Amino acid sequence: MSEKKVRVRFAPSPTGALHIGGVRTALYNYLFAKQNGGDMILRIEDTDSNRFVPGAEKYIIESLEWLGIKFDEGVNYGGNYGPYRQSERREIYKKYVDQLLDSGKAYIAFDTPEELDAKRNEIQNFQYDASTRQGMRNSLTLSSEEVDDLIKNGHQYVVRMKIEPNEDVVVKDLIRGDVVINSSILDDKVLYKSADQLPTYHLANIVDDHLMEVTHVIRGEEWLPSAPLHVLLYRAFEWDSPEFAHLPLLLKPDGNGKLSKRDGDRLGFPVFPLEWKDPKTGDISSGYRESGYLPEAVINFLALLGWNPGNNQELLSMSELIHQFSLTNCSKSGAKFDYEKGKWFNHKYIQTTSNEELADMFEPVMAEHGVSAPKDTIVKVISMVKDRVSFVKDLWDQASFFFVAPTSYDEKTRKKRWKADSADMMTQLMSVISGVENFSSENTEAIVKAWIEENGYHLGNVMNAFRLALVGEGKGPHIFDITEILGKEETIRRLNNAILVMG
Ligand code: GLU
Repeated sequence: MSEKKVRVRFAPSPTGALHIGGVRTALYNYLFAKQNGGDMILRIEDTDSNRFVPGAEKYIIESLEWLGIKFDEGVNYGGNYGPYRQSERREIYKKYVDQLLDSGKAYIAFDTPEELDAKRNEIQNFQYDASTRQGMRNSLTLSSEEVDDLIKNGHQYVVRMKIEPNEDVVVKDLIRGDVVINSSILDDKVLYKSADQLPTYHLANIVDDHLMEVTHVIRGEEWLPSAPLHVLLYRAFEWDSPEFAHLPLLLKPDGNGKLSKRDGDRLGFPVFPLEWKDPKTGDISSGYRESGYLPEAVINFLALLGWNPGNNQELLSMSELIHQFSLTNCSKSGAKFDYEKGKWFNHKYIQTTSNEELADMFEPVMAEHGVSAPKDTIVKVISMVKDRVSFVKDLWDQASFFFVAPTSYDEKTRKKRWKADSADMMTQLMSVISGVENFSSENTEAIVKAWIEENGYHLGNVMNAFRLALVGEGKGPHIFDITEILGKEETIRRLNNAILVMG
């Protein structure tokens, strides 16, 4: 391999929200670029104006920024190889179309949609190729005067690649090895349309990869069928082809078929990085960010869908991923989208996020419930319950009682744990507690336990009733950690209320 600087590109078409599979493609490009000290380019492939969706480009940029996938160059980032939006590069492509026409590697075709339909009806599995092109209206069957006249008279045309039949085309793929396709199964793909004066995806993609000095094309498996044509195009231009790597498909959780947007709706998990509102229908699709995922967790989760480090390590930071990633370790077969695993990753990353940061994220959730508390209290509460949650918003279920006194008591727990003598015991406990000077967890615990022992009470019975009075149910962290946070006054108030209500 040459010593050229590694340059990769992420080249989405702005046709809607960026699918999670596209995010993985961007991530693998990024990891590969950074590992090799290379550049990562954002190119927007918007030559198909019919499929253009407003807001999609902005969405793509915002998504990848949220995830920490950074570009060195491209739309929104600038650079020396621009413009990076294909719709702004029209003039550039025309020259290359002409070059292919002049060298006889491509030809002009005038067949109208009706004529093509007629052919399809006449010939089963009709394909525009070496076996049929002689029967069509194109620059191979018409004289050059006729061609010039048709163009002069405003007839629309396309430029097609002239694929020579019966040749084995080899796509050298870093993941799949040599993929060999016989050229006879390829059709003479349209490279350019006079109607909108724009090249199609194939031509624009190849020309731009060449002009932008892209060294590695890393993209989803769905583009593998286009790769033989791309190889032929590079050859037609006498350009070096970049290296290819076609990433494995993301499969539905059960492994049956490709993961789709509808699977997300059906199975209740996001397939988009950020929430997306379809500008046409107004439909809203959920996003990982809004569902409470930490970007690091999404990155780690996606990195392992199609690649693994070759050991059992599952938790990898972005810098570890950059260090360890390898295209040759990517799998050829599809990767099952295991959503439960995604939640597991988020749980793990919640544990490694500082309590202060989590407190900042939790404050808005508390505000939604109409409560607030000093930051250091929230930090302490989080340290006690974070190991029980996978999402910041779930902290509320685990911790609401710290901020809101119970107004009712869980029936089941009450039946089991509030006994005939509970009210009496809790009344005594109230007076024990009012005598505690230093209300730290340890001190209160020592005093209460001494009192229990002195009176020969059953520790479990006292604690169960105490917990029910403070929490309203049977859950929660160590009881004296709870009382320390609540403070003496509030602890007594809750005991009093429990006695009043449960008697
Ligand atoms: N525009 C294509 C896409 O939407 C790019 C495919 C490629 O990377 O060559 O994914």
